[in-house]
Amino acid sequence: MAIGVKVVERPHALAQETYVPAVVKGLGVTMRHFFQNLFGKKHIVTVQYPEEKLKYPARNRGLHRLMKRDDGSVRCVACMCCPTACPAHCITIVAEETGNPNEKRPLIFEIDELRCVVCGLCVEACPCDAIRMDTGEHAHPVAHRADAVLGKNDLLSRAAPSTAHQGGLGPDWRARQS
Ligand code: SF4
Ligand code: SF4
Repeated sequence: MAIGVKVVERPHALAQETYVPAVVKGLGVTMRHFFQNLFGKKHIVTVQYPEEKLKYPARNRGLHRLMKRDDGSVRCVACMCCPTACPAHCITIVAEETGNPNEKRPLIFEIDELRCVVCGLCVEACPCDAIRMDTGEHAHPVAHRADAVLGKNDLLSRAAPSTAHQGGLGPDWRARQS
């Protein structure tokens, strides 16, 4: 069976060939929004950062910080869960002995904030609430690549005592709850 082909003529209207009406229509939409925002300001969603800041939700993931124990020492026991979970491989930890055979602590704890993808998996992986991203701060702008690597002291500068019980409540934790 022969297939019929219907040839449709290209439109030759001057308006379609020059695009002038379409350009004018587009500029009209732009100018309408411009004057609406200039006088009404009801559609403006941007803010003058950093002078003006939005309130972030409580679970916003910001710059990392390390948490402290009640005695002021670092909570991290260098278990290596967070660098293992990190998909960007941006956490570097070198552990050292504490004298307690049950736990270590980080001699070096570094996070490369430029490689971090802000996924929060390090926080999820930590078994002792030693690392958080609840600072409400963005990663800071830096002039040199190396300055984006936060060390242990940088991370501890935003530290706070944790409400979690260091080392867990022990095997009889159910009995202690009652
Ligand atoms: S937020 Fe994600 S990418 Fe960033 S350090 Fe934690 S695990 Fe790695
Ligand atoms: S998961 Fe927590 S305790 Fe383990 S190395 Fe990371 S911050 Fe330290």
